[in-house]
Amino acid sequence: MEILTTDDALIIADIQNDFLPGGTLGISGGHEIVPTLLSYIRRFHARGLPIFLTRDWHPPTHCSFRDQGGPWPVHCVAGTPGSLPPPAFDAPASAVIIYKAIDPDQEAYSAFQHTALNRHLQALGIHRLFIGGLATDYCVLHTVKDAVTLGYAVCLLTDGIRAVNLQPDDGHLAEQEMIRLGAAPIHLETLPA
Ligand SMILES: [Zn+2]
Repeated sequence: MEILTTDDALIIADIQNDFLPGGTLGISGGHEIVPTLLSYIRRFHARGLPIFLTRDWHPPTHCSFRDQGGPWPVHCVAGTPGSLPPPAFDAPASAVIIYKAIDPDQEAYSAFQHTALNRHLQALGIHRLFIGGLATDYCVLHTVKDAVTLGYAVCLLTDGIRAVNLQPDDGHLAEQEMIRLGAAPIHLETLPA
């Protein structure tokens, strides 16, 4: 059992309509983790611990889009319905939204890349991050890598992630890599209710 302390924060990546089934970059099973993530959110919120939600937030001509030479279909164009969380993802108003990849010529998979996230965490005295969301093999992986590099202890929410899986094993390999880097794999039952 992990004990939550005031050194802990929750980071949930990219729960946005375009990344859920039916979205332009829909991730298989992405909707299945929403109730689990809400349970994590409730546990952090009940203890007054900080919660950060990232949003992929692109201009219409973002470099990651295929018509700009990038690898992905158009997704998460800032302010469009696809860029918003689904109604079921009912996070507390106190959660901090981190917008990323907002410049046309910069891709950012990590929540730390060109954002104020690290400054927020330092100001709050946070030393350990609980990280989940979408997608295991991109934003979660790169956020965990940066968190480890920046010196944070990391717990990976293994029941609160899903992978794009361009190759069928990508999600599995990403999970293995994060654990090899030092992320502790946890699931909801590992935390006190
Ligand atoms: Zn994107």
